[in-house]
Amino acid sequence: MAGNRTFSMIKPHAVADNHVGGILKLIEEGGFRIVALKKLHLTGAQAGKFYEVHSERPFYGELCEMMSEGPIIAFILEKENAVADFRKLIGATDPAEAEAGTVRSIYAKSKAENAVHGSDSDENAALESAFFFSALERF
Ligand code: GDP
Repeated sequence: MAGNRTFSMIKPHAVADNHVGGILKLIEEGGFRIVALKKLHLTGAQAGKFYEVHSERPFYGELCEMMSEGPIIAFILEKENAVADFRKLIGATDPAEAEAGTVRSIYAKSKAENAVHGSDSDENAALESAFFFSALERF
């Protein structure tokens, strides 16, 4: 059975460009409830740890650099079928392929600076949520 929570981040370029409110509005209007939320600036090492699954990919270094260049917004979301529905709401990794109206179609600048992260499985949603939030920070 599909889980009801997913994990997301608003990436540094979108935070720097003042798109936090616009992005959260689309997410709340999409039927997601915010369970936990914080703003923080990852170090390169922390970004490397978070994206460890991608360490063999050619863009890993660029990804870690981009994710640590400024503050992010990290949050946990709740909705039935959260992981799949959230990936639908944000759209394809490459904004050129993202469906109109999706978060990335509106706010992404490129395939790398694509505005938001969204977990790709229930298992990763749980691991990624635990990377940022304790049980006491979830409501
Ligand atoms: P996602 O699940 O849609 O976020 O996509 P992936 O898991 O494939 O990639 C993780 C993140 O790496 C993406 O959200 C992008 O920020 C970044 N990324 C993906 N492909 C590329 C690429 O070709 N070049 C660079 N620099 N970054 C990429």
